[in-house]
Amino acid sequence: MELIRCFLFFWDPTHFLVIIGLIISMVASSYVNRTFKHYDQYRSQSGVTGTDAANYILQQSGISDVGVQKISGNLTDNYNGKTKVLSLSEATADSTSVAAIGVAAHECGHAVQDKKNYWPMRIRTAIVPLANIGSTAAFPIILIGVLLSWNQTLINLGIAAFSLALLFQLVTLPVEFNASHRALTILSEGGVLSSEEVPMVRKVLTAAALTYVAAALSTFLQLLRLVLLFGGNRNDN
Ligand SMILES: [Zn+2]
Repeated sequence: MELIRCFLFFWDPTHFLVIIGLIISMVASSYVNRTFKHYDQYRSQSGVTGTDAANYILQQSGISDVGVQKISGNLTDNYNGKTKVLSLSEATADSTSVAAIGVAAHECGHAVQDKKNYWPMRIRTAIVPLANIGSTAAFPIILIGVLLSWNQTLINLGIAAFSLALLFQLVTLPVEFNASHRALTILSEGGVLSSEEVPMVRKVLTAAALTYVAAALSTFLQLLRLVLLFGGNRNDN
């Protein structure tokens, strides 16, 4: 009984929003893993590896200042605009599967965005420090606001700080979808992928993009929870 009372004390119904967010993120991440695994079994007809595909796309896009390197980890592939390094995980770099080629091509899509000064990517890079500070400071600011006999101005400032994290994730969406779109166009036009392989790669990249949608949804639900709990003035008691 003590345990249940304790649980009810710390439990409020808005926790459901956080749980729904967690479930959405888990489903999205398991979907991307399953989709990758599935299409990792299909060897590409052209026989190129992820690294080959990356070098091909960079060359086709007139990018000569980006290096391709292999890194450890599972789906740790990324493009670093500052160092101009495109890192491919072991599963991607040496594999000739359509999934690996798709992932490598997606990262190249970011390198192309960087070269072409794709503006959502610029905004995204500019927001990163703000979003990091915002998501770290939000909860302490709200807590201090509550402790200072419910200082609504401070609490609102905390909620605004948290919303920067959501803003970052919303700006991430067009950047990610656009990188995949560029990747698919170059791969299919250049003949690296056959007409049967293009839809397979599209499925892998769509699954990957859905994890970003899930992350944004989950952050939105957390923000909604903060607004429901702390958003209004507490004059109703
Ligand atoms: Zn990406």
